[in-house]
Amino acid sequence: MSGAPVPAAMPLPEPILEIARTLEDAGFETWCVGGAVRDWLKGELDKDVDLATAATPDQVQHLFPRTVAVGVRYGTVGVLDRDRALHEVTTFRKDVSTDGRHAVVAYGVSIDEDLARRDFTINALAYHPLRGEWRDPFDGKADLLQREIVRAVGDPVTRFAEDYLRILRMIRFAARFGFTIEPATWQAAQAAALRLSELSAERVRDEWFKGLESAGSVAELVRLWRDVGAAEVWLPELGSEFPLAAQLRPRDAVVLTAGLCRSPATVLRRLRASNAEIARASGTDIPAQEPGSNEAVAVRRWLAAVGEAADDLALLAQYRLGTPPPWAETLTGIRVRGEATSRIQLAVTGDDLRAAGIAAGPELGRLLGKLLDTVLENPGCNSREALLALVRSWR
Ligand code: ATP
Ligand code: MG
Repeated sequence: MSGAPVPAAMPLPEPILEIARTLEDAGFETWCVGGAVRDWLKGELDKDVDLATAATPDQVQHLFPRTVAVGVRYGTVGVLDRDRALHEVTTFRKDVSTDGRHAVVAYGVSIDEDLARRDFTINALAYHPLRGEWRDPFDGKADLLQREIVRAVGDPVTRFAEDYLRILRMIRFAARFGFTIEPATWQAAQAAALRLSELSAERVRDEWFKGLESAGSVAELVRLWRDVGAAEVWLPELGSEFPLAAQLRPRDAVVLTAGLCRSPATVLRRLRASNAEIARASGTDIPAQEPGSNEAVAVRRWLAAVGEAADDLALLAQYRLGTPPPWAETLTGIRVRGEATSRIQLAVTGDDLRAAGIAAGPELGRLLGKLLDTVLENPGCNSREALLALVRSWR
């Protein structure tokens, strides 16, 4: 059925083969499915291989000495190998009911039925780990290797109504592989995009972050989020221009969000990101995003002002320029030399000043500020004696 060339045998790790043998020997058909199969065909080998089997979760748990009930409700059992690494084994299943967010599943179906409930043809391929045989009922191999398209399995209108998250998954796979989206799939996604408001913020965040981390072109990912209508629902702060360079490595989803969106902390709060991530986003949302010059003094003063946001701001500047900003080297030098850029790095503490006869209170704080100021100008004077001498001279 598929015009794609038949690929060579998939090199599978021994624990996967062993699990598959155990299941097949017990009479349960077992296939490799999901992202690992897809990615292997695209030449990427680093993913955990998911197994789909005719055995029920109960039967899987009985066949292996060590299992973890990772998602038994949905048919997934984690099987631990000798090295205690976990491999997911999921019972063939079909969705009996869906409401666009949750599914109720049923077992007792074939691999083909299991593939039919998967979202896109490129994700609906199965490879038999022992027989080296393929199952490709929707011609996903040719979509993946020849047509280079993301296409819904079955009727796209129905498939998106079952789970609106698929709209965001579609975008993510298209941007990751640089694929186009099959026209009927795209139209159905666009028509359903307002219903994305019904998804939980956590699922949307996961897709936004994974998309930013995996996109071949982040600009393309952003264009798709906007054009399908997802940005309007979940990311109204996304700017209309793409302000970043083409080369965006290393990828950091929080800093990318800060580079792409106004009020990034508001965005991340809406997406229910962690408090730490929200704090990082606010840290970058400041007027002085870069030092005034590349001189060490200016960079030290800027470091004292921005505190922990410095590395995120350096990455943000790099995203904008496409290369590390000229002051990044100055910043590294300051750190290598261990120069103080905050009060806690001063060679004297508030206790030292109190011991030297200064009363606790605003005066003490003012003096520490003045000392830091001096040290920022002249890192050489950050010694206990020099700083105490300075304090004496000021009084
Ligand atoms: P990646 O791990 O790179 O995100 P993946 O394809 O492995 O990609 P998973 O979320 O790990 O994605 O899901 C594994 C498989 O389960 C998919 O390949 C797909 O067949 C199926 N699947 C996952 N989510 C959905 C969904 N929302 N609707 C239908 N099928 C899905
Ligand atoms: Mg996966």
